[in-house]
Amino acid sequence: MSPSFPPEQRDLVDLRSDTVTRPTDEMFEAMRNAPLGDDVLGDDPTVLRLEEMAAQMLGKECALFVPSGTMGNQIALACHCQPGDAILIEEEAHILYYEVGAPALIAGVVSWTLPSNRGAMDPEVVDRHVLRANLHTPGTTLLCVENTHNRAGGAIIPLDTLAAYREIGDRRGIKVHLDGARVFNASVALGVPISEIAKHFDSVNFCLSKGLRSPVGSLLCGKAEFIDKARVWRKRLGGGMRQAGILAACGIVSLNSNVDRLADDHRRAKEIAQAVCELPGMSVKLEEVETNMVMVDTEAPAPEIQGKLAEKGVLCLPTGPNRLRLVLHADIDDAKTEKAIEAFRAVAA
Ligand SMILES: *Cc1c(COP(=O)(O)O)cnc(C)c1O
Repeated sequence: MSPSFPPEQRDLVDLRSDTVTRPTDEMFEAMRNAPLGDDVLGDDPTVLRLEEMAAQMLGKECALFVPSGTMGNQIALACHCQPGDAILIEEEAHILYYEVGAPALIAGVVSWTLPSNRGAMDPEVVDRHVLRANLHTPGTTLLCVENTHNRAGGAIIPLDTLAAYREIGDRRGIKVHLDGARVFNASVALGVPISEIAKHFDSVNFCLSKGLRSPVGSLLCGKAEFIDKARVWRKRLGGGMRQAGILAACGIVSLNSNVDRLADDHRRAKEIAQAVCELPGMSVKLEEVETNMVMVDTEAPAPEIQGKLAEKGVLCLPTGPNRLRLVLHADIDDAKTEKAIEAFRAVAA
C-alpha cells in the first residue's frame, strides 16, 4: 500500500468516492522525474505532453489541464455561451447539483432543466426545448450531457442517444458539451475507444482525479480555437498553475496505466451489489449497476445505516433519505470488497 495512507486509514474501506485514491508508486516516480517549466508561460513540457496525449486519445485538436472538473465544466459554459443564453441540462446533473450555482454566476446562463431516464434525456424533449432568441425568450446555445451519470449511479448514456444529441446540435446550431468526469468508465464498460464517445461533442471534460487515480486535475478537450478561449478563462478564474508538470506527470501515468483496470472496479461493484441485494432491509437494482457505483436503497434511514457501517470501518455517503452510494476504485481490492460485504451482512442482521 502507498506510504501516503496515514496508518489509521489503512484498514478503512472507503467507498465515499473514487476521488479518495492515493497516487501510485509509479506516479511518485513520475513526479520526481518530470521535466518542469512554467505552465502559465506555456513552457511546462510535462503539461504539454499530457495535453497532447489527452487530445489524441479523445480525437480532439487540443486539450487544457485544469485543476478540477468543476473548473473545466464552468470554463466550457463560459466559452460556449454569452450571459443571458439558455443551456439545456439534465435536472440532476453535477453541473447543477454540485457546482454551487456556478453557471448563473460565471457564464451567467439560464439553466433549462430536463427530466431523464437515469441521466439520459429524451432527444425529442431536448429538441423541443431549443429556443430561438427573440424579444421574449433567451436563445439556447448549449446542451450539456453527463456520462457516466453520477446521481443516476454511474449510468452509461447509450451511444445512439449521444448520436441523437449531436444531430440536434448540428441541425439546431447549438454546441454540445460532455461532463465526462467518468467517461473512461463508460468507454471501458462499453468496450469502445474513448474517441467513439468524444466524437459526438464540441467539448469534453474528464477527471484524472477519480477512477484514473491522479491526485489532482481534469482535462478540457475541444477545437484549438475553443481551447484558446478556455486558456483565458482558466487564467481569469485563477486556475493557472506554474510547475503544474508535477501534477501532469501523474495524469500521464493515469492515461498510460490506469484506464483498463477500471474494469476491476466494475466487477467489484457488481459483486457488492449481488451480495447486498440479498440482505433484509436493503435493495439494489442489479441491472442498474453498469460501472463503478452501487446505489443501495435502505428501509431504515440511510444516515443510520451509514453510521453502523462506519463503526465497522466501511465509509459511504447517502445521496437521499433512504439511499446510500458506494463507489469502487483502485484502492479497494478483493479483500476490501469482501470486508465491505461482511460489514453490510453484519449491519443487516
Ligand atoms: C466529480 C465530478 C465533477 C467535478 O469534478 P471536481 O474535480 O470534483 O471538481 C464533475 N462532474 C461529475 C459528473 C463529477 O462526478
